[in-house]
Amino acid sequence: MNTESLADALFPDIKDSPAALEARFPKRSTTAPVTRFAPSPTGYLHIGGLLASLVSERFAHQSGGIFFLRIEDTDKEREVPNGIEEIISAFSGFGITFDEGPTSDTAEKGSYGPYIQSKRADIYKVYIKELVRQGKAYPCFCTSDDLSKLRSEQEAKGAKTGYYADWAKHRALTPEQAAAEAKTKPFVIRLKSSGSETRKISFDDCIRGTIEMPENDFDAVIMKADGIPTYHFAHAVDDHLMRTTHVIRGEEWLSSVPLHLELFATLGFETPRYAHIAPIMKQDGESRRKLSKRHDPEAAVRFYHEQGYPVNAVIEYLMNIIDGSFERWRVENPAAVHTEFKFDLSRMSKSGGLFDMTKLNDVSQNFISRMSAESVYESALRWAEEFKPDLHALMKEKREFTTAVFNIGRGDPKARKDIRTWADVPNILAYCYDELFPSIAGDYVFPATMSNENLVAFLTAYKNANPDMSTHDSWYKAVLDIATGMGFAPDMKTFKKNPGVYKGQPGELMMSLRIAVLKIKESPDLYSMFSAMGHERARARIDICLNKLR
Ligand code: GLU
Repeated sequence: MNTESLADALFPDIKDSPAALEARFPKRSTTAPVTRFAPSPTGYLHIGGLLASLVSERFAHQSGGIFFLRIEDTDKEREVPNGIEEIISAFSGFGITFDEGPTSDTAEKGSYGPYIQSKRADIYKVYIKELVRQGKAYPCFCTSDDLSKLRSEQEAKGAKTGYYADWAKHRALTPEQAAAEAKTKPFVIRLKSSGSETRKISFDDCIRGTIEMPENDFDAVIMKADGIPTYHFAHAVDDHLMRTTHVIRGEEWLSSVPLHLELFATLGFETPRYAHIAPIMKQDGESRRKLSKRHDPEAAVRFYHEQGYPVNAVIEYLMNIIDGSFERWRVENPAAVHTEFKFDLSRMSKSGGLFDMTKLNDVSQNFISRMSAESVYESALRWAEEFKPDLHALMKEKREFTTAVFNIGRGDPKARKDIRTWADVPNILAYCYDELFPSIAGDYVFPATMSNENLVAFLTAYKNANPDMSTHDSWYKAVLDIATGMGFAPDMKTFKKNPGVYKGQPGELMMSLRIAVLKIKESPDLYSMFSAMGHERARARIDICLNKLR
């Protein structure tokens, strides 16, 4: 018996040949980059995964290339229901679109599929069978018990642990022996490595430059006992047949590159370019560590959604991490969309971008300050629908008023920046909506210089006045008339010249009015707030306050 008959005995149903597959998935006509994002459908999306997908997407699309989605579900244990749908909808929410790939659990687009690994079992087997046929791979019958014995023996002798060289005992089986064992025992298929630890491989990583590592010499498992390939083997076959030009992935795969290069060479495939992205780091006291799924809520993309960061603000922030020159570009091009920025893989950090919440908040705040009042309203409304249903109902009812409030100070050179995330909106609407106003906790805190007597007198006078609200100036004049009538200075300068002569200055009164009506110290422009509310509602609020003061 030879290895050809062994291959037939192990894979009797596999009739396709590598040549047939080559013909079915011909080289792409484009010379532009082809990249992919290849998540496992765990339903959990790590911010690092979003970053990697953005890098791959931008890298392909900024040069007119192709970006596709491949679902890596060979690890059955990690699968969750609806994982694929969740991934797709999360990405489209971030404006990241795939040219090819699954569009749901059952449908897909593109001619290099199937794009879900569990649907590609027969494709992998064609190549596995071919490697067995050529004597470059072989079945291994070791149980996990056998493997732990091997490990103990190696440890006792001070040898490197693992399945390699003379330690790889099923390497030595003849095709007859292997075929006979396969009739009764489960087996995995291993690569018969021709590498040596003493030789080096070298490759050019697009982010990290030239890297040298020892060759792979392990007989790595390429097909598990259930007939499903390992990540390593599926990576080689898929990225070859899908004609990926650049494999952009997390740095945790860097140590597997020697094996991957050996697999590509053994299979006779051209190797793609690699780019290994450093993980996003977090400052933790004195030291830095990877952002962790277990310890850091901000590691999950869902966190940004829950906290109400606009998706574009998150993307914008990630662009800052990806390429340090993005920030300057943004200042020079405030109105441009991020896709107009051309980034360079070689400018990416090798040590890992540092996650910076302050920076994120800054980016988000600036982003929201550039949005129109209508889109602020729509986005905040969508957020509230999911996370604050009661507020959502009120917002829907008060569309016009709410949009008017969001419109205050918008489009100014010094645009208002009181909204960092949609989660700030409930606090703002609390002082705007009469229904929520009573829920604002705490006492009214007026300027310390205002006596109770002056406060009551001023608020009563304002309440009974009928200020002309047609312009800011006409309104301000009405307030000043009350102020000067009470013995307050008409402005700060006059007050400072003769402080003893006056009861105070208009700033104190303005602040008192703001607090009486809105209960807060900082709000968008007071005149605009009052205009949006209407004088009657302001008057009613003053009454509530006066009842407390008297
Ligand atoms: N499924 C792998 C992961 O989730 C993909 C790595 C790659 O992009 O090749 O880490």
